Amino acid sequence: MIKNVLDLLPEELIQQLLDIGEKEYRAKQILNWVYNKYTIDFNEMTSLSEALRTKLQSILDITIPTIITKSNSTDGTTKYLLSLQDGSNIEMVIIPNGKKNTLCISSQVGCARKCEFCATAKLGLKRNLETHEITSQVFLAIKELGGKKLTNVVFMGMGEPLDNFENVVKAIRILQNDICFNFSPRRITVSTSGVIPQITKLAETGLKLKLAVSLNSAIQSKREILMPISKIFPLPELKKALIDFRKKTPYRITFEYVMIKDFNLGKEDVKALLKYLGDISCKLNVIKWNKVDDLPYETPTTGEIDRFISAISVLSSAVTYRRSRGADIDAACGQLAARNTQRRSDHEEF
Ligand code: SF4
Repeated sequence: MIKNVLDLLPEELIQQLLDIGEKEYRAKQILNWVYNKYTIDFNEMTSLSEALRTKLQSILDITIPTIITKSNSTDGTTKYLLSLQDGSNIEMVIIPNGKKNTLCISSQVGCARKCEFCATAKLGLKRNLETHEITSQVFLAIKELGGKKLTNVVFMGMGEPLDNFENVVKAIRILQNDICFNFSPRRITVSTSGVIPQITKLAETGLKLKLAVSLNSAIQSKREILMPISKIFPLPELKKALIDFRKKTPYRITFEYVMIKDFNLGKEDVKALLKYLGDISCKLNVIKWNKVDDLPYETPTTGEIDRFISAISVLSSAVTYRRSRGADIDAACGQLAARNTQRRSDHEEF
């Protein structure tokens, strides 16, 4: 079976080469071409003999997604609609912010979690992405950025990353491997809707990364409306799992709260939020809801946002109001849906 190099950790590539009677150093040469020179064509790997290049193509390939469309926002954000080998479409977004360039990547084609505020949810789940379909988004973004450095990767694109656990974890190992993408753990964020068993499993892997949780309401009945996953994994159990996770990670957990007009900004919402987060070492990012066609929610006014932020500022956690990015190209919070435009929840100012 032909393997994609972007699916493999260095030790796995070495084993592939040893299996066909080649020396270990050949794997390092290939990885150098891929991760330092961003070459995906074996024929361009001129340090390898022609005979070896032909042999390699019988066991390896380096396929990356095709860019179908590229939409540029007036704020510098760029959204990419990508086509995978089987014809499925996904989206990724590059968000520049000063010297930082953040890439928001997808982990599934569609999503099964049915969050009420999310455009991706309307697609349903088509399938999980393979590991190489995740890492190749990063590869593609680095190429697209040219000389500019890709500083952060966030799993906030299409899909619930923890529902594609094995492939996402493997992709993060490749992203962090110093012979591959060499990202520092603090530059990688996985955002979840709150899949408790997988949060626990993630903590047990010992993998270092930042975890973000899409909260959106600390009132159980309201969160169940916005995020049906809350019926299966209620807020008290989620909090317990997150406190356990925090004990095993050096990084504070980030909670994301999408502000929705006349829904989650009232006094009782503030009270519940202060109580829920009051005793967790965390950060809270609030972002305003971006209108998605066919969804019954509205963007709050500046006055409503200011009142809400002022009311929650007593929290000891760091509270950040994030400006939405890419709203004019449907690449902002809640808007991705891979339909020659749009997905979901959090293209913020990173
Ligand atoms: S917000 Fe995330 S978990 Fe919820 S439906 Fe959208 S993509 Fe899935």
